[in-house]
Amino acid sequence: MKKLICLMLSAVLVLGLLCSCSRNVYPLSSTQIMMDTVVSVTIYDGDDGVLTGAMQLCKRYENLLSKTVPGSDVYKINHANGQPVTVADDTAELLSIALDISKKSGGAFDPTVLPLVELWDVNNATAAPDDAKVKAALTSVGYQNILLDGNVVTVKNGAGLDLGGIAKGFIADKLTAYLKENGIKSAIINLGGNTVLVGGKNGGDFSVGVQKPFGKQNELCATVMLRDKTAVTSGTYQRYFEQNGRLYHHIIDPKTGYPTDNGLDAVTVVTDSSAVADGLSTACLILGLEKGKALAKTYGAELIFVDKNGKLTVTDGLVFDKNGKENILKLKE
Ligand code: AMP
Ligand code: MG
Repeated sequence: MKKLICLMLSAVLVLGLLCSCSRNVYPLSSTQIMMDTVVSVTIYDGDDGVLTGAMQLCKRYENLLSKTVPGSDVYKINHANGQPVTVADDTAELLSIALDISKKSGGAFDPTVLPLVELWDVNNATAAPDDAKVKAALTSVGYQNILLDGNVVTVKNGAGLDLGGIAKGFIADKLTAYLKENGIKSAIINLGGNTVLVGGKNGGDFSVGVQKPFGKQNELCATVMLRDKTAVTSGTYQRYFEQNGRLYHHIIDPKTGYPTDNGLDAVTVVTDSSAVADGLSTACLILGLEKGKALAKTYGAELIFVDKNGKLTVTDGLVFDKNGKENILKLKE
């Protein structure tokens, strides 16, 4: 009898050990709607707790940087009537990156596009606004209206902030740092198309799809092989409405007040910082091929342009993989 109990106990022990050793089945993934987009984090090592923490962190950043969340730093700035506002270190850091891209892009990227974004309201509108309204909105647009002094932000001339063209990239960088601090060696962070590849996959590169503008769901026009990089796309096809056969999308040229229209449908930026890639993708779509390439060079970033005929143009640091299938790109060694 004693022997039987002993056997039963050891069986329970072994079972217990087996359960406690039971491995996670990778990848582990978490997806939520945040910042008006689909946020997903996929890890190839580590555990669920890290994913939960990443989602909580993302929510915290949304609450700090969203223009629509009352109490966020951006909300406070936009409701301060030109008075100085003290912001969190993260907000100041993001604004400083945004202003740097604004200057270097000659104002193509401009985080004060808020009145134009609100006027065009491409998610809900069915008709373009009156030209007079566009001209009126333009009068308070200009990144020079933002004064950043340490953590104190003052906005002049009735301007308002919209960080929609860069915040997702910035948050992706913060999530990357969080995953690495928590020992994650291999992961994909995707904030509505702002992608960061943490490490590689199974010792090789991740393959990142470049969506075909106005193509079928999941239809790609290129694939980029990457590890420890970010890839961010801005495209006319992402948010738009049509009126009389004309397409009005969400990326506004701050010089004209109208959605940019220069023959390009998308730009993907590949580099190290996702905040920079995000700001650059918006700027380069507006600047077009030559000026876009020059701007990207100052940040050491690579670009993939897709024009309205589907033609791909890539910067010098990217090469088509000759041995592979068509349109597989990789970074030059
Ligand atoms: P993205 O998809 O990163 O190119 O960002 C587009 C979003 O950035 C828009 O939905 C607006 O919120 C904002 N935006 C639009 N035009 C500009 C611009 N010229 N500079 C900075 N942000 C912009
Ligand atoms: Mg952007």
